[in-house]
Amino acid sequence: MPSNTGGGCLAGRRKEPRRAKLHRGPDAKPYPCKFCPVGCHRKIKITEPGEYALEAVGPEYETLGMMGTNLMISDPKAVSLANDIANRLGIDTISAGAMVGFAMECFERGWITARDTGGVG
Ligand code: SF4
Repeated sequence: MPSNTGGGCLAGRRKEPRRAKLHRGPDAKPYPCKFCPVGCHRKIKITEPGEYALEAVGPEYETLGMMGTNLMISDPKAVSLANDIANRLGIDTISAGAMVGFAMECFERGWITARDTGGVG
């Protein structure tokens, strides 16, 4: 599976109880699929900062992994916004996170450059 694992782990994150934090915020209310014993779904509301303002279904745990830690993103608000954008576009968040991670790895290894990414890099 494509991933962005070459850089190690998120700096300074090992000591924090990240899992509990991600499942509590941002302003998360349980919203599980019917009869599911796992119940990973949350309804979330983000008001600040304004560029992340959002009221929607929050990211599932796979999305937190693939669009969060896999991409070295530790801000649950940023992951929530990426999740919402992907959902609105009908894009699978796990696949999207894997492909972006793969592109990041290719960029870091010099296999692709900003010329290949339209200047993003
Ligand atoms: S998305 Fe989450 S809540 Fe829904 S069925 Fe899967 S694990 Fe359960």
